[in-house]
Amino acid sequence: MNKTELLYEGKAKKIWKTEDENLLISEFKDDLTAFNGQKKSSEAGKGALNNKISTELFKLLNSKGIPTHFVEMLDDNHMLHKACEVIKIEVIVRNIATGSLSKNLGIEDGKVLPFTLVEFDYKNDDLGDPKLNDQHALILGLVEFQDELDKLRRVARQINDILKPYFFEKGLKLVDFKLEFGKDKDGNIILIDEISPDNCRFWDVESGESLDKDRFRQGKGGLKVAYENVLERILKN
Ligand code: 5GP
Repeated sequence: MNKTELLYEGKAKKIWKTEDENLLISEFKDDLTAFNGQKKSSEAGKGALNNKISTELFKLLNSKGIPTHFVEMLDDNHMLHKACEVIKIEVIVRNIATGSLSKNLGIEDGKVLPFTLVEFDYKNDDLGDPKLNDQHALILGLVEFQDELDKLRRVARQINDILKPYFFEKGLKLVDFKLEFGKDKDGNIILIDEISPDNCRFWDVESGESLDKDRFRQGKGGLKVAYENVLERILKN
């Protein structure tokens, strides 16, 4: 399958059309952005690491019955996937308080939450991805029906129930992560985008060290080594 026309360029990926209208190619870029694009950099090899990590995690989720857009990894920086209508909701799943949750609500950083929290953000860079409740999402027409929002929450929790113990066995706490969903040509809601240290927080169980994009957000350095470490743990059975 070949790239034909550039459909969209985002902060971390370019999305290409292919000869098949039902299939797209994501090209994972080395660019890094944070704080809604205000902080920018680039790290050679980051895109390939995210492509490989996402490939492994999509395969795992597919094997557990979670439908995703993933078809195959084509090469280091390219993934072939189904074409979907993107649902403009970022589904945020949190096991441990940190980041914007601690900042906005004053919950102690590092506090284990009494239950897994699922939140919705409006995927809209111009507005800075604001928080959404169900009524906002319906008024904005981001989905048609309440049961679609219920499904997003249900599937996000199922994904957490698979990934949290999977990473814990590999010595990583899955602190929080962001998921995106779309509708395929048959109208099914499926997982899209990527699952990588760009949109997940991983803390080493022993040291508490961050092995994710917080290294860049907080100016700590060592981002590539951290992403390689995550991939190595995933590949080790
Ligand atoms: P927070 O709301 O604390 O900034 O982020 C919560 C989790 O969702 C983190 O794992 C973060 O990486 C992910 N996340 C939230 N919003 C975005 C976003 O716009 N882009 C990316 N890549 N990840 C996000």
